[in-house]
Amino acid sequence: MKERLKQAFPYLAERGALRFDEVLAPYSSFKIGGAADAFLMPPTIMDLAQVLSFALGNGIPYFILGKGSNLLISDQGIRALVINMSEMNKITRDENFVSTFSGVSLRRVAEFAQKEGLAGLEFAHGIPGSVGGAVFMNAGAYGGEIKDVLYCSKYLIPEVAALQGNYPVKHLKAAEHEFGYRSSSIQRKGYILTSSVFRLQEADPEEIKARMQELDIQRKDKQPMELSSAGSVFKRPPGHFAGKLIEDCCLKGYRVGDAAVSDKHCGFIVNLGKATAQDVMQVIRHVQNTVFERYSIKLELEIRLIGEM
Ligand SMILES: Cc1cc2nc3c(=O)[nH]c(=O)nc-3n(C[C@H](O)[C@H](O)[C@H](O)COP(=O)(O)OP(=O)(O)OC[C@H]3O[C@@H](n4cnc5c(N)ncnc54)[C@H](O)[C@@H]3O)c2cc1C
Repeated sequence: MKERLKQAFPYLAERGALRFDEVLAPYSSFKIGGAADAFLMPPTIMDLAQVLSFALGNGIPYFILGKGSNLLISDQGIRALVINMSEMNKITRDENFVSTFSGVSLRRVAEFAQKEGLAGLEFAHGIPGSVGGAVFMNAGAYGGEIKDVLYCSKYLIPEVAALQGNYPVKHLKAAEHEFGYRSSSIQRKGYILTSSVFRLQEADPEEIKARMQELDIQRKDKQPMELSSAGSVFKRPPGHFAGKLIEDCCLKGYRVGDAAVSDKHCGFIVNLGKATAQDVMQVIRHVQNTVFERYSIKLELEIRLIGEM
């Protein structure tokens, strides 16, 4: 895979946009993960479409990586081409609409909107993901969700890119994303989000800023922001809170190696230093088994497992 990609895209390899054996831990909020065989940060959408077309045509598997804040990446890494779109980072405003590339962080988009006097993204300011990952997950917090503010998105459809080697864009309106709790139709379709448009409301920039600061304080109070994690590990089971169930099972602080159930928020597993994916998996399994034995409730993962566990 490596040689074929290097030969097909020497200009991307020369400028460092296409790399090999790139360790993924620094790209994950857990700070865990081995190397990807190949790693692409496309400078343009055309580069992305061309490499994707080549990968699909040559049976090279690929994975789209946002800010890596909802993932547990295997200690063995990934035998695939990992694509990260943070090189394309333009944000623009047109009336009440803010358009942004998918690799931009939610924090940056929220701060851009605040300075422009546009409200609606305050809830998203503290979520440490990219626009792509947030739309994919229908990220939400403090009563707001991506589905409330998304107007439309642009996608690249891998199979069509493979056939044409160009950039066939598909526009999806918000409703076509079929958003649910931490889910969207994109998770099933495998489309690649390239950009999104948010519809916001005019408001006083100082008031927007105050609301963001208020939510940031609440987050710091309740979540272990000072430690590496991937946020809430488990989905909220209907009628319950995962963190409360875990705490009631006396699992606060439960630890394997350097992975532990957070003392501050039992829904989080934190990396206390040198945790491995294997450590985290052992904590996850113990928590799931204990909660199931006590309450007959199956805790489903909100985070996504990447590579062989
Ligand atoms: C401290 C902390 C607090 C958190 N708080 C919250 C919270 O309050 N609310 C909440 O909802 N989440 C929260 N999260 C989880 C996480 O930030 C969100 O799920 C976020 O939306 C993930 O975005 P990401 O860019 O990091 O995606 P990644 O973790 O990189 O990827 C997640 C999935 O999205 C896919 N994806 C990413 N970009 C694209 C793209 N362009 N096209 C297609 N697929 C793509 C990936 O392939 C992957 O399957 C928190 C995480 C942490 C570490």
